[in-house]
Amino acid sequence: MVGRLAGKNAIITGAAGGIGLETAILFAKEGANVLLADISEPALEKAVAKVKELVPAAPRLETRKCDVSKEADVQAMIESLDAWGGLDVIFNNAGIMHANDDDAINTPEAIWDLTHNINVKGVWFGCKHAVLALRRNKKSRGSIINTASVVALVGAATPQLAYTASKGAVLALTRELAMVHAREGFRFNSLCPAPLNTPLLQDWLGDDKPKRQRREIHFPTGRFGEAVEQAHAVVFLASDEASFVNGSDFVVDGGMTKAYVTAE
Ligand code: NAD
Repeated sequence: MVGRLAGKNAIITGAAGGIGLETAILFAKEGANVLLADISEPALEKAVAKVKELVPAAPRLETRKCDVSKEADVQAMIESLDAWGGLDVIFNNAGIMHANDDDAINTPEAIWDLTHNINVKGVWFGCKHAVLALRRNKKSRGSIINTASVVALVGAATPQLAYTASKGAVLALTRELAMVHAREGFRFNSLCPAPLNTPLLQDWLGDDKPKRQRREIHFPTGRFGEAVEQAHAVVFLASDEASFVNGSDFVVDGGMTKAYVTAE
C-alpha cells in the first residue's frame, strides 16, 4: 500500500476514541501498520471495526488492552511490535481530565496522582520503551509524538490544576528527550490541541451553555476544533516529511493561543 506512512509500524494509545481513533484511521489510510491500544477493550473493538470499515485495504490492524500508567503493560505492548519488524512511530496520546480536578485548594490529592500517573508517567513509559525498541531493532529513525494541550501554554481561569500541570510536564519531558536522542535519529514532538469536539471535553461541558460559551469565545474561528484536525498534524509529525521537526510544541488550535480579543 502506497502512502505517507507506508511500511511504518505504529502504536497509538488512547486509540479507542477522539484524537486517537481519528489518527488510527488516517495512519491506516496512509499505509501504516497500526496497533490500537486503550484501557477499554469494548471501546477498542468498536474502534478497530470502524477503522476496518473505513479503510478496508489497511495493511495491518490489531488492538491491545493497555493501561499506560502501568509500565509492564506499556513495555509488553511495545515489545510485541518486535514481531512486526520493530516500532517506528508511537503516539502517546492516552490522557484523562477528571471531573473533580479543580484549583489549588479544591483538587483532591488522589485526583492529582491519578492524572499524573496516566498523563505524565504514561507518556514517560511510552517514550522509554520506544527508545529501547528503536535501538533494539536498529532503527535509524523514529517518531514519538506526545499529546500535551494548549493549557500547557496559556493560563486558563477555568481551573483543572492537575491536568494543566501534567500537560506542562509532557511538554518539558518531550523537549528534553528530543535533545537527548536527536543524534540517534529519534524525533520527539508534542501535540498541543485546543479544546475539541471529543467526549473528553464535550461530556464534561454537557448542556451547560454558559460553561461552553466561556470557552468558545476565545476561538478566533468561534468554534472548537475537530479531532481529525489534530490527526492530520500527527500524520505529518509521524511521517518522514517532518524529518527536521524535532522538539516542537506543535500547536493545532485555530489561532486560539495567538488571540488577544476575538471578532464578535
Ligand atoms: P478521549 O477521552 O476521547 O480519548 C482518550 C482515550 O484514552 C479514551 O479512549 C480512554 O479510554 C483512553 N484512556 C484513558 N485512560 C487510559 C489509560 N490509563 N491507559 C490507556 N488508555 C487510557 O479524549 P481525546 O479528546 O481524544 O484526548 C486524547 C488526548 O488529547 C488526551 O491526552 C487529552 O488530554 C488531549 N487533549 C484533548 C483535548 C480535548 O479538548 N478533547 C484538548 C487538548 C488535549
